[in-house]
Amino acid sequence: TTHLVDEARAGEVTLRGVSRVYGKNYAVRDLDLHVEAGEFISLLGPSGCGKTTTLRMIGGFEYPDTGSISIAAKPVEALPPYKRPVNTVFQAYALFPHLSVAQNVAYGLRYQKTPKNEVRERVSEALQMVRMGSFAERMPAQLSGGQQQRIALARALVNRPAVLLLDEPMSALDRKLREEMQIELKLLQQQLGTTFVFVTHDQEEAMTMSDRIAVMNQGRLEQIGPPDAVYDAPTSAYVAGFIGQQNFFTGELSGGPGAWSVTIPGGTVVSTREPAGSPVVGGVTEVAVRPEHVTVSATPTGGPNEVRSTLMSVSQLGSALQIVTITPEGLKIMARSPRGIDLPMTPGVDVYCSWPSDAVHIFPTTTATESE
Ligand code: ATP
Repeated sequence: TTHLVDEARAGEVTLRGVSRVYGKNYAVRDLDLHVEAGEFISLLGPSGCGKTTTLRMIGGFEYPDTGSISIAAKPVEALPPYKRPVNTVFQAYALFPHLSVAQNVAYGLRYQKTPKNEVRERVSEALQMVRMGSFAERMPAQLSGGQQQRIALARALVNRPAVLLLDEPMSALDRKLREEMQIELKLLQQQLGTTFVFVTHDQEEAMTMSDRIAVMNQGRLEQIGPPDAVYDAPTSAYVAGFIGQQNFFTGELSGGPGAWSVTIPGGTVVSTREPAGSPVVGGVTEVAVRPEHVTVSATPTGGPNEVRSTLMSVSQLGSALQIVTITPEGLKIMARSPRGIDLPMTPGVDVYCSWPSDAVHIFPTTTATESE
């Protein structure tokens, strides 16, 4: 279904050593990224980490200062956008206000002098893909923000690009519609087999939709992998903190392979996991434990990693309880438990927080910018 010759590699995108500098600042620094054909990849990170600049360089709206970019195994870094086999859906999805939905979607095809019959077929196909088939004759002003974003998407899909670049395309939608669109867009992508490079600062969105997530930090690629890998095996405190919730503690590292300990105020945290990024024994490290690994009970259980704490709050979080406690030393410990656990719910009571040693991640202390 693509206009490219080498079908199998048509959707491949490769960046090698790509940098883009503004003044003295690197917006993107020495970026290597390979996207497989048909893959859904998200560029994730806080504002200013270089996601949009990366996307714009793939699309041809920005040129790298150094490095190479290839699409469909051909170098493109010197080509203007219209000569690249990609389409971009921008955050500001400006539709032509004086053209109907169908005319907006048809615009690119008309420009390429596509035969009328074919234009009609492809426009109707693209509108059906985004479930806007019955809106063809409407004017943009008669559409909601979410509907306009779908039309912007149809306008890109109608060209049947091998690669689709999307820059926060659902930012204008409310939460419920955004969650619905996430699922629909993912299904559509799988059905079409189009490569999607998707920019977002929303970690849940990236987790829901992506085959792989590229986490960026100050212009660099911090970690790349499938959602469960970046969630369960973060290679830095930055990634551990940016994706999902974490309890972070700081303390001195001791022990060795298979039995690491970190001395924190009021106790010791033990871990059977190998520390990430080779911290030194005797040095200061960060310890991360996810709230869902923390068990809260009214009496001590005697296991490893048990900390006496004071219950501060218990709140409903959909199907789970979000529990916040504080230790006598002032460390905050968050826990997430299924509803219906047997727990004294009165704030102020003593509880015991514990977690398994294989749920403890140890990282060297970093001075990297904090996540949002
Ligand atoms: P956001 O989510 O806020 O859009 P981002 O991760 O997409 O952020 P970029 O837009 O790629 O980040 O910007 C990366 C860095 O480059 C930022 O520090 C930004 O200020 C800077 N930058 C981007 N475009 C320009 C420009 N045209 N001139 C100067 N600096 C720029």
